[in-house]
Amino acid sequence: MTVKIPTTTIGATLIRSFKCSFFPSDSRTTRNSSSKRRKSFRTVRMGSFSSNLSKPESSSAESVGDTTDNTDYSSFTNAEWKKKLTKEQFYITRQKGTERAFTGEHWNTKTPGIYHCVCCDSSLFHSSTKFDSGTGWPSYYKPIDDNVRTKLDMSIIFMPRKEVVCAACDAHLGHVFDDGPQPTGKRFCINSGSLELKPHQQQQ
Ligand SMILES: [Zn+2]
Repeated sequence: MTVKIPTTTIGATLIRSFKCSFFPSDSRTTRNSSSKRRKSFRTVRMGSFSSNLSKPESSSAESVGDTTDNTDYSSFTNAEWKKKLTKEQFYITRQKGTERAFTGEHWNTKTPGIYHCVCCDSSLFHSSTKFDSGTGWPSYYKPIDDNVRTKLDMSIIFMPRKEVVCAACDAHLGHVFDDGPQPTGKRFCINSGSLELKPHQQQQ
């Protein structure tokens, strides 16, 4: 699906770039340790797109239904994440970084498939919800089920934004804006570096 958002002027493009730009001031802790632990067992509904990825239920009493896996991502240290991720992936997902526009692997990808979290493999976005936003970042009008969640991001004081994170492992993915196409009107502006595309033909 291709939906062009008017970005014909340099000014509009700059505004969009600005909206997705990284402003390294968000070191706030918005959740206490209790909620951090809870979210590690958060149920992540995989939906019809990825039922094949369902794994055995967690033994945790807090877990209901399928989860991505039983890993307690909240206990991962930065050293462990660094081992698992590339430098760029670590910078984006664990340090709230932003890749430069038009440089990421998926900004212009049209391959049918499912975009997964590079950190925990949770299925996040379906290619059918991807659209050309003209921003240079992969953009989607909706996530898969409730596999992402949002947090208020006040790192730019005069421009509150909604940060998008992986519901399972809290990886920073990008931001969501209200200027997307129908049917949701949302624009999930996501870093390619936080995503791994699994093309349909490779889905088991
Ligand atoms: Zn994740």
